This record gives sequence, C-alpha cells and structure tokens, in this order.
Amino acid sequence: MTTVLTGETFESFDPATGEVVGTYPVHTAEQVQAAVAKARDAAAWWESLGFAGRAERLAAWRAALAQRMPELGAVITEETGKPAGDAQLELVLAIEHLAWAAKHARKVLGPQRRAPGLLLSNQAATVEYQPLGVVGVIGPWNYPVYTPLGSVSYALAAGNAVVFKPSEFTPGVGKWLVESFAEAVPEHPVLQLVTGLGETGAALTKAGVDKIAFTGSAATGKKVMAAAAETLTPVVIEAGGKDPLLVDADADLDAAADATVWGAFSNAGQTCAGVERVYVHERVHDAFVAKVVAKAGAVDAGKQYGPMTMPAQLDVVRKHIDDALAAGGRALVGGRDAVGDRYVEPTVLVDVPEDCSAVREETFGPTVTIAKVADMDEAVEKANDSAYGLGSTVFSKARGMELARRLRTGQTAINAPLSFAGIASLPFGGSGESGFGRIHGPEGLREFARPKAIARQRFTAPIALTSFARSKKTEAIVGKLIAKLHGKG
Ligand code: NDP
Repeated sequence: MTTVLTGETFESFDPATGEVVGTYPVHTAEQVQAAVAKARDAAAWWESLGFAGRAERLAAWRAALAQRMPELGAVITEETGKPAGDAQLELVLAIEHLAWAAKHARKVLGPQRRAPGLLLSNQAATVEYQPLGVVGVIGPWNYPVYTPLGSVSYALAAGNAVVFKPSEFTPGVGKWLVESFAEAVPEHPVLQLVTGLGETGAALTKAGVDKIAFTGSAATGKKVMAAAAETLTPVVIEAGGKDPLLVDADADLDAAADATVWGAFSNAGQTCAGVERVYVHERVHDAFVAKVVAKAGAVDAGKQYGPMTMPAQLDVVRKHIDDALAAGGRALVGGRDAVGDRYVEPTVLVDVPEDCSAVREETFGPTVTIAKVADMDEAVEKANDSAYGLGSTVFSKARGMELARRLRTGQTAINAPLSFAGIASLPFGGSGESGFGRIHGPEGLREFARPKAIARQRFTAPIALTSFARSKKTEAIVGKLIAKLHGKG
C-alpha cells in the first residue's frame, strides 16, 4: 500500500484495508503559482472586511464544522484509519481553536497604544498587526484537521488568504475543509487547496507567498526552510518530537501510568507531542512500570487506535524496537513481533541505553521507553538531552511547576497528558529539531501578522531634537536630563 501516481493524479488509501478511497490532481508549480495569484486578490477583499466581517464569516465556517463533525470525521477515519472517537476529538479541539482565533483577533492584533517615553512625549505611539497577505500552509497526515487548522485558523483570523497543501495521505480531508469554507465564504477563494506529493509542497514554498507555515518532519522542514531562504520568505516550522514524561516520587502513579499509556499509544503513537520516553524516580519505578504494563496489555490496537497511516513508518518502528533489544533493552509488552503488516501492538521497552535510536529519534509509533532515575535532577537532565524540544509532561504533586520550567520544551503538561494542545490561548511550538515559531494563542495570531509601528506627533516639542535647528543649549538640557534620569546605578 503506497501512494500511486497515475498520470497527473494520485490516489489516497484507507490504511486499514489498502483500498483506494480517492483520486486527486497533482498540482504543478504553474498551478500552485496561479492559486497564489488568485489568493492575492482574495486577500485584499478578506483584509477589507475587517475583524468583525472576518469573525462573522469564520463563525459561519465554525458552525458548519461543528454541525457536520460526523461527516468530516468519517473522511478522517477513512484516510488515517483512526477510530471515530479520535477523529471527533481532533475536530473538537480544532473548532475550539478556530473559535478562539476569530474571537480574539481584534484584541490581539488591533491598534494598541505604546508609551512614547519622556523625550518624545509629544508623540502618540501605536502598534497594530497587519495581515501578511497570502500564507502557504503545508500539513501532515497524523491530525489532518487539527494540525493544519492550527495555522489556517490563525492566519485567516489575522486577515490573510491561505493556500493549503495537505499531506498526500489525507487529500480528501483537505478537500472537505476547503469546500466547506467556500460554502461559508463563497465570495472569494480566501482558502484554496493544492494537492499532490512533496513536489507540490516544494512548489508552494517557491510560489511567492508571504509566509510558509509548515508542519511535518524535521527533515522536510529543513528543505522548506532552505527553499524559502532563496526569497527570504519567513517560515514557521512545527516539526517532530521525542517527548519525555517525568514521574516524581510523590506522583499519582495510576494517573501517570494512564497518561503514559494514552500519550504513547493513542493514534498509534503518531502524535508529534506523544509520549515517547519516560523517566521515573527510583522510589516508585517498579510500581509505576507494573501499572503501565497492566494498562498497556489491556489496550486493543484494532479498537482503541488504528493502523499506521503511512506504511513506511512500520520500518522505522521495527528498527527502533530492534535497536533497543539488540542493545540489551527488554520488551515488557509487545516487542519484535508487535509490528504487523498494518498495525503495531503497544510496546513497552525498559533497560534501553540512552544512545539508542528508540530514545534519540522520533519513533512515531505505539512504543515507549521507561528508564529509572536516581532523582528528578537526573530526570530533567536526561529529558533535556535531546535534539528535539517540542512537548513534555510532568507527574509530581509538590514540584510540578519547578520541573516544568526546567524542561527545554515549548510546552509542558503537569499531571495530565497533552493538555496544552487543547488550550487555545496557549502558544504551541518547539525548539531545536522540533522547529521554531508559534501557532495557537496570541503568539499564533501574531505569527501571521506584520507589526506596524506608527508615531504621530500631537504637538510641536519645545525642544527640537530632530532638526538642524537643534541648539547647543538643547543638547546640554537633554544631556543633563538623561544623566539625571539614567545616571544612577
Ligand atoms: P513530512 O515531513 O513527510 O510531510 C509534511 C508535509 O510536507 C506533507 O504535506 C508533505 O507532502 C510536504 N512535503 C514533502 N516534501 C516537501 C518539500 N520538499 N517541500 C515542501 N513540502 C514538502 O511529514 P509527515 O506528513 O510524515 O508528518 C509527520 C511528521 O509531522 C512527524 O515528524 C510529526 O512529529 C510532525 N508533526 C508535527 C506537529 C507539530 O505541531 N510540531 C504536529 C503534527 C505532526 P507529501 O505528504 O505529499 O509528501
């Protein structure tokens, strides 16, 4: 089961069965450029609507998404293989984000007064955040609605038009989203779809958009950034992770084990901020591992999560398990035989050396490593010793905030898994190989806007600073004033 090209089209598959579920055009570089040109006109109209006009239309789209969740959920399930309940969960979160972005755009991006400072107190200083124009959004397949809408919703609410390239594994979901938007906003093609393989995404990075919002692997993110560098096109890169979960000696072990099992195995482990590594205080290590093993053994791969959406990922998962076992690791649940033709059974690995691929590289499958640590300092040190820096989780009663602050990841959840992803007001993004820039929250709105600073003179200042008429006396007064104001240590 691989993506098949037939002439200028490609096919998408149901990963649970291998059945073809749709045929889509491979858009050429010229077609991508034409879409961006059309988006320019649409962007001007969309900007002219102002915050209120856009919020009204985004509310109509939001309502359509909310009313038609089962319909869109079925397309998600068909193309990714995830269970209906998981498809609904990503839709619920995506709708919350869309609602938040539309509601808060004016407050976050509208004109704001700034203090002009003493020397220029005759000026009125304001900043406002203007739309960039046309944003190119390139999305992955693992959460084909939630993830791209994390950029699309915020870019639209900030007043931009969007050209969206979904993953080749989920073109049907992308098409559904863009068509439903066109029904809610029929006047102009403010949100357009381009489909195809990697080349179509590459064409979008070179099509003259004002920003690229990329979500996908770090390897592709680097190609996107290199291509965008040629035209100094700004990018936001949301890439992969190797997210750690820390369990302190005073943690609620049942809750921590539950979070580990769900965080590691839900969506077949194909979650950018899924739990891939666990570091547990030695005082509770054995009890915690016993709970994880019991819970993981009860997970039904076919019912509680789906197949691996991308067949090639099976090889990566198999290799990481093999590497771990060859280096002396032990599989307490699953293991080498867990990797089937389409599904991977839950796999819990212990005693895995820290330099193994299973600990260092993104596995993106339903596996997790658990390591014992002497104290939480060692846990933090090991958690931070990673090329990635996306999300993290801490289970601790007394030290949750302290440990969270010390973790070098863009976001940390305390005593619950992945909660940050559902809180629309919080920014989301990574560092290192996990990328840079932020989507979601006020930071996500500003990511798709250009700050415009305006200084307006309210009255003529008694002393002329920015004029050849400036006198020696003025210079002396200003010199004394600054020495008085700032001269003390
Ligand atoms: P890929 O990097 O393979 O692809 C991502 C997107 O980029 C796809 O639409 C792909 O198109 C496109 N693409 C491929 N080549 C190029 C190119 N040269 N130029 C521009 N675009 C290109 O990632 P996956 O789709 O496999 O997604 C999984 C990855 O996404 C994981 O690493 C996961 O951690 C990460 N992710 C990160 C998130 C975050 O918010 N940080 C959220 C969700 C996932 P095509 O599919 O046609 O090849």
